[in-house]
Amino acid sequence: MSIKEIDKKYVLNTYNRFDLCLVEGKGSLVKDENGKEYIDLTTGIGVTAFGIADEKWVEAVTSQLNTLQHVSNLYYTSPCAKLAQHICEKTDMSKVFFSNSGAEANECAFKVARKYASDKGYDRVNILTLKNSFHGRTLATLSATGQEHYHELFAPLPEGFVHAKANDIDDVIKVATQNNVCAIMLECVQGEGGVIRLDSDFVKAIDSFAKANDILLIVDEVQTGNGRTGKLYAYMNYDIKPDVFTTAKGLGGGLPIGACVVGEKAQNALGFGDHGSTYGGNPVACAGALSVLERIDEKLLEDVRKKSKYIFDTLSIADGVESVSGMGLMIGIKTKKNVSNIIKECMENGVLCLSAKDKLRLLPALNIDFDLLKKAVGIIKDACKI
Ligand SMILES: *Cc1c(COP(=O)(O)O)cnc(C)c1O
Repeated sequence: MSIKEIDKKYVLNTYNRFDLCLVEGKGSLVKDENGKEYIDLTTGIGVTAFGIADEKWVEAVTSQLNTLQHVSNLYYTSPCAKLAQHICEKTDMSKVFFSNSGAEANECAFKVARKYASDKGYDRVNILTLKNSFHGRTLATLSATGQEHYHELFAPLPEGFVHAKANDIDDVIKVATQNNVCAIMLECVQGEGGVIRLDSDFVKAIDSFAKANDILLIVDEVQTGNGRTGKLYAYMNYDIKPDVFTTAKGLGGGLPIGACVVGEKAQNALGFGDHGSTYGGNPVACAGALSVLERIDEKLLEDVRKKSKYIFDTLSIADGVESVSGMGLMIGIKTKKNVSNIIKECMENGVLCLSAKDKLRLLPALNIDFDLLKKAVGIIKDACKI
C-alpha cells in the first residue's frame, strides 16, 4: 500500500488532506515522494517560522535531545526557565505557563481569568469572545470559538462563553455588561476566520473598557505571535497591553509547544496544583522555541514588513484579485476564481498555499528568501488570473 492508502485506512478521517505526500525539505523548499520541489508558503500553518530543518533550530533541538529530553515538572530545567525569562523580558509580562498546543494555552487563560475574578470576589464567570473568531478544538475552546458551524453536533459544550460582534465596541460593551464577564479574548487578526485584521480603534476601546472595569484582556496570539505580523506579538501593532496572551504555532518552530503569558495583575491567580501538563515546558520543545525567539530581532521584523508590503503591493493590483488583507506575513487574498482551484494550480506549478474560509491564505517562513518569495508570488498571480 502507498503512504496515502495506509493513511486513509488507519488515520481517523478528520483531515481532508491535499493529494500530496511530503518527505523532506530545506528552508522554504519542500519535496514530495516523487522528488518534485515546492516553494512552501504554508509553514505547517504558521509553525516552521524559519522553514524546514533550519540549521540553528536543529542544532538547539538536537543538542538538548542528546542531553535531557524530559524530566517532568517536578524538577527545574534550564530551557523552560530561560524561555519563560526571554518571553517576559521581551514583552514586559510576568509569568508563563507552558502547554503543548494553542488550544491548551487558551484553556489555561480561561482558568486564569475565572480564578482571578473569583479571588477578587467578583460574581463573574463568563468570557467574551468575538464572532468569527477561532480559539481551538478542545470543547472549551470550541465554545469560545465564535463560529456556529464548529459547535454543531458536539453539544453539550462547556458554558460560560458569550460572543459579540467584531469591530463593534457598543456590542462588546453591551454583551460584556449583560453577562458579567471576567475576560474578553480576541485575535488581532482573525486567522481561520479569513485573515481579518481588527480595527485599531476597536482594539484600543476594548483595552480601555477592560482596564476600567477590571476585566482581563486576553489576546490569542497563537497564529499572530512570534514575529508573524511584523512585530514580536500582534498586539504590539495596536499600542495596547493585554493582561494575558497565549501563543503556540510559530513559537516552537516545528515542535509542539504553547504558552499562556500572564501580566502583573493576574500573575498569582493560579497557584500550586491549580494547573499542569505532563509535557508542558518540555526541555526539547523549549530549547527549540528559545532558538526561534532569540532570532526574532528588529532586523528580521523589518524584513517581514518589507516582504509583506511587497506581497500587498503586488497582489492587490493583480488580475483576478479583489482584495488583500492581514498583517505582516499573515495574508489573505480574496480572489474572483474559486480558491481551491487556485491552490491546485499553484501546487501543480510548485507553490504550496493555504485557504481561510473563501480566501487564499499565505503564511510563509519569516526568513523566506526574497527572490524565492517573488517567484512564488508570480505563480500565485498567474493562478488568480481569470
Ligand atoms: C491554530 C489556532 C489555535 C489552536 O491551536 P492548536 O495548537 O491547534 O491547538 C487557537 N487560536 C488560534 C488563533 C489559532 O490560529
